[in-house]
Amino acid sequence: MLPEDAERRQVLEHHARRILGAAGYQRIETPTFEATELFSRGVGEATDIVQKEMYTFDDAGGRSITLRPEGTAPVCRAYIEHGMHKLPQPVKLWYLGAFYRHEAPQAGRYRQFWQVGAEVIGSAAPTADAELIVLLAELLEALGVRETRLRLSSLGTPETRAEYREELRAFLRANQDRLSDEVRSRIDANPMRAFDSGDPSTREVMAGAPTLLDRLSGEDAEHFAEVRRLLDDAGLRYELDPTLVRGLDYYTRTVFEFNSDALGAQSGVGGGGRYDRLMEQLEGPPTPASGWAAGIERMLLAAGELPIARDPVDLYVALADPAAGPQAFELAYEARRAGLSAQLELAGRSLKGQLKHAGRLRSRYVAIIGSEPHIGLKDMEAGEQRELEPAAVIPTILRGSRL
Ligand code: ATP
Ligand code: MG
Repeated sequence: MLPEDAERRQVLEHHARRILGAAGYQRIETPTFEATELFSRGVGEATDIVQKEMYTFDDAGGRSITLRPEGTAPVCRAYIEHGMHKLPQPVKLWYLGAFYRHEAPQAGRYRQFWQVGAEVIGSAAPTADAELIVLLAELLEALGVRETRLRLSSLGTPETRAEYREELRAFLRANQDRLSDEVRSRIDANPMRAFDSGDPSTREVMAGAPTLLDRLSGEDAEHFAEVRRLLDDAGLRYELDPTLVRGLDYYTRTVFEFNSDALGAQSGVGGGGRYDRLMEQLEGPPTPASGWAAGIERMLLAAGELPIARDPVDLYVALADPAAGPQAFELAYEARRAGLSAQLELAGRSLKGQLKHAGRLRSRYVAIIGSEPHIGLKDMEAGEQRELEPAAVIPTILRGSRL
């Protein structure tokens, strides 16, 4: 991540902190690696992430560790380990950090990538889901992420899903001669994946497949209707997509994903959903929860120009005489202690070269220190230079920069 990239990320982080902080979310950071078991249990054995994307190693003590491929399971692990269920609920958290997945690198897909994420733990309310979705929409808007589309669905409970899967498996088997080999081979393991297939004949079959949305239980359907009502009231547009299968096993009820049509094949900028059963899965107290994660590289790829506010340089300390080095060092140090931004000549340039460099940095003042007792203070905006007592330099700049 080069300096220009770092600056754009800083803008993103600023917006995330502002938007999520204003809604009462607190920052959390979990370790870069965790026990492998956390992810195999928390993300799900059958998922792509666990089956083929994790960086898993044995450490020197023979423990299997994994570079975190996602943030929700670690946040839940922290919630359980630190007894956060005793805090007033829900606990609202956000994070920003690097994640690791072993996949084929291409535009918008990297083996180390960054995510910002938000989780609401300890609330089953549809309002929590709607709030999370609205907050991610707000972040994407603040960043000027172009051509976004929100897809929304509900997965119901694992029980409904299990029944539905059986129904879907039966449907797939009844049509198996028209399915792609890959889909056919995964009918038992992961029938939902059939909806993702790009194979034309499979897609034709799937157009007539039963959908989970039509099979939701009364309570789940009511929960979903409420989420939709809240999003409608907020004026947020979405497409219902009953085929939306998120990559993680632990989702229940609401699932959603934002895509940007400004991106190519890797169009998912962020998504999430409700995961009411995950906490139990990790041997914590049953706790409903909901959250999302958004990819930082993809958001920035799809974002417009971001206004980068460069910090101004108040003072550049130039040397007319190399022997004045210690005095220059002290002046820069004192200037920073006085709250100014100050840089020091470090490259042994000629005086002319130093003034040119100060210009490049758009420094407001240049102090020129030579062998005389006075210091020359050049106002780079006015183009004027004054000779000052050393002790007068900083007060003069402070007065000047307040004008
Ligand atoms: P995809 O469909 O692109 O594989 P995913 O469903 O695996 O995405 P999630 O696990 O939901 O992604 O992660 C949330 C977000 O993190 C994605 O929407 C995307 O923006 C980003 N992301 C995921 N994997 C990568 C990666 N390898 N490189 C860069 N960003 C990624
Ligand atoms: Mg993926």
